[in-house]
Amino acid sequence: MKIPELVTDPAAWQARCHAAREAGTRLALVPTMGYLHDGHRSLLRAARARADEGGRRGLAVASIFVNPTQFGPGEDLARYPRDLEGDLRTCGEAGIDWVLAPSDPALMFPADHQTWVTVEGVSQGLCGASRPGHFRGVATVVAKLFNLTRPHVALFGEKDFQQLAVIRAMVRDLAFGIEIQGMPIVREADGLARSSRNTYLSAEERARALTLSRALRATQEAAARGERDAASLRAHARALLEAAAAKVDYVELVHPETLRPVERAVTGSVLLLAAYFGRTRLIDNGRLP
Ligand code: AMP
Repeated sequence: MKIPELVTDPAAWQARCHAAREAGTRLALVPTMGYLHDGHRSLLRAARARADEGGRRGLAVASIFVNPTQFGPGEDLARYPRDLEGDLRTCGEAGIDWVLAPSDPALMFPADHQTWVTVEGVSQGLCGASRPGHFRGVATVVAKLFNLTRPHVALFGEKDFQQLAVIRAMVRDLAFGIEIQGMPIVREADGLARSSRNTYLSAEERARALTLSRALRATQEAAARGERDAASLRAHARALLEAAAAKVDYVELVHPETLRPVERAVTGSVLLLAAYFGRTRLIDNGRLP
């Protein structure tokens, strides 16, 4: 396994990525906040494969940056887990060539930073409602990472379903000319969606958090049996979450592209869940059969 090259200065990163692209190299990018787990691993491996398309070895690159602008006041920015050494090993095992990990957030957001990317429609509601400013921070940092890297393709997880919709809208509306590839949710053996935030959970909260994937599956099964009324499906999922003493943030059934709530579930409608277990807020989602 080869440890990837670590670049801590965004300007140096930009110079080398642009030079590679100008030399005809294909670039695949995975933006992350680090503390990498199996969900990230699947994106990193896919990036390796996407970079090498066309029979010539490309560059599979990743960024590790805990982006302060996507955390609200009182959120977990200060305690967000970090492990750069472990992350570099994980990137190396997945075949990543270069990693951008800015040594100081001020290199990405200096004091005079004043430009923000706001995606309207799909940022509203869901996580956008409970985390004001979150998607503005996400869209802005991703736009910056795209400009620094100029990848041909960038990979994002469906675990953050609304985030993926926000990025797709931004790339389309601002003509970034980058292919966005969504990747399926990777779960623990028992069903809990992998998340860096799972490390916050006590054993007791971890056990209760399983109710997210269980509520999802139970609702998918109810839909498969013929229940199509969105209000009934949402109530079903909510009751299961509340039975596990979760503080529900939202339970929504939406259209997969517009993210607007639907009244009747159809194949492909997405059930989105967010709930607190103790102080930890977790999300999950899945399509209806
Ligand atoms: P994060 O480090 O949480 O910002 O996540 C970086 C990328 O990994 C995002 O595109 C996430 O959607 C994706 N990701 C996180 N968890 C998972 C998971 N369990 N399955 C698939 N992708 C994931």
